[in-house]
Amino acid sequence: MVDISNIKNFTVIGAGLMGGYIAQLALLAGFEKVTINDIQIESIKKCVSRIVNGAYDEKEGLKAIESAGKLESGLTTDILLKRLKIEMDLAQAVKDADFVIEAVPEDLKLKQEIFKKLGNLAPPHAILASNSSTISITKIGKHSGRPEKVVGMHFFVPLLRNRLVEVIRGKYTSDEVMDTCVTIAEKFPCPYFKEKMYVARIEKESPGFIMNRILSVLSIYLSWLIEQALEKGITFEQLDAYVSIIGNEMGWIALLDYSGLDIIYDGLNYLHEALTPDIEASKFIVERVKSGNLGAKTGKGFLEWTNGKIPKTDKIKKTDLISIEQTGLISIEQLIDALMAIMLNEGCRLLEERVISGYRVFNKVMSAMKLPSAFKMAKRNYEKWIVLLEELAEKTGKNYLKPCKLMKSGEFFNMKN
Ligand code: NAD
Repeated sequence: MVDISNIKNFTVIGAGLMGGYIAQLALLAGFEKVTINDIQIESIKKCVSRIVNGAYDEKEGLKAIESAGKLESGLTTDILLKRLKIEMDLAQAVKDADFVIEAVPEDLKLKQEIFKKLGNLAPPHAILASNSSTISITKIGKHSGRPEKVVGMHFFVPLLRNRLVEVIRGKYTSDEVMDTCVTIAEKFPCPYFKEKMYVARIEKESPGFIMNRILSVLSIYLSWLIEQALEKGITFEQLDAYVSIIGNEMGWIALLDYSGLDIIYDGLNYLHEALTPDIEASKFIVERVKSGNLGAKTGKGFLEWTNGKIPKTDKIKKTDLISIEQTGLISIEQLIDALMAIMLNEGCRLLEERVISGYRVFNKVMSAMKLPSAFKMAKRNYEKWIVLLEELAEKTGKNYLKPCKLMKSGEFFNMKN
């Protein structure tokens, strides 16, 4: 734990879905001034409304958090909103910032331009963080003039339900900046769960870091499966109900829509280049991005959304599950096996590459995301999963799904810490 009492002014660049969530958390964490900056006034207006009234559902908004008695004593929504400043001019937004976090679209060039400006405009002591989902922190900070102060701080949606924050070291990030960021992330409350955030300290960057790397590799198989299902006449809504049974409250397709299909598309394209060509945006995502149906933010993606809120179809219906099983496509047990096998394999790759020092970190990351960890089920299953991965690679034509050396050796069992 380091002393962060000198960090009073917190600035968020980009007032979209994530910028809004992060600004709200910063308010709840007690920073004296939280400034949001965006190039579009519409984005800022929507962002403030989401902070007050909730993004994913009403329970997430400051008003509901206050009504539920979860604000620190003496605080009210009005008091917190007085600490929230709106500033369209970047120079003004960062002139007295101690900590800046960027949450603009997932575009390396755009982020690099912003970090170059931040390097010139923010006070020399200010830490410059990025909420990028996938991109190298070292590359983002390349022209910042202060690479030792550039760091990744990656949050997840829906933010007030997930307890995970990844803090990522770029090649030049100093120890002091890493320690400060971890302490800041730990200060963020998790009001919805009444639990503390889990901060995954990632000492070596890798495309997609931990969680998005796992999700994007799962998407290799899920995209293939979705294509098969659609050919058999299954709807996106039915598929969503099917996948959400794995444990996440929001189904896979609702989560894509909610995150923003443009953001997903850009992230997958980055991983296609940086990790493996087997990761790619499915034609269903490409079609929607091209037609401007970006998900919750535009009202339509795979599903229909009203005011950015959870679609009615995002509920598990028994009849939906039965109808998928009846097509003979896949049973729930087979789906769980496939997803767990892929997850274990990618977890082993993270261990092989020393992105994580032990699978205990992986278990904690999954638990913070309310997902089961494949490592916990590996003893009884990993030999069967090795065979299954070979089959999945063959069926999908995606060699990246083949089991890696560490998984095949079983030596990962000795790599807990
Ligand atoms: P978004 O599309 O909801 O919002 C992006 C905002 O950035 C928009 O309001 C836009 O007007 C603004 N913007 C664009 N250029 C700008 C500039 N030059 N200066 C200031 N503002 C600018 O995107 P988002 O979903 O909030 O994602 C933002 C970042 O967070 C991306 O890097 C993304 O990968 C990452 N992220 C997203 C999610 C998710 O689920 N959406 C989760 C974790 C991390």
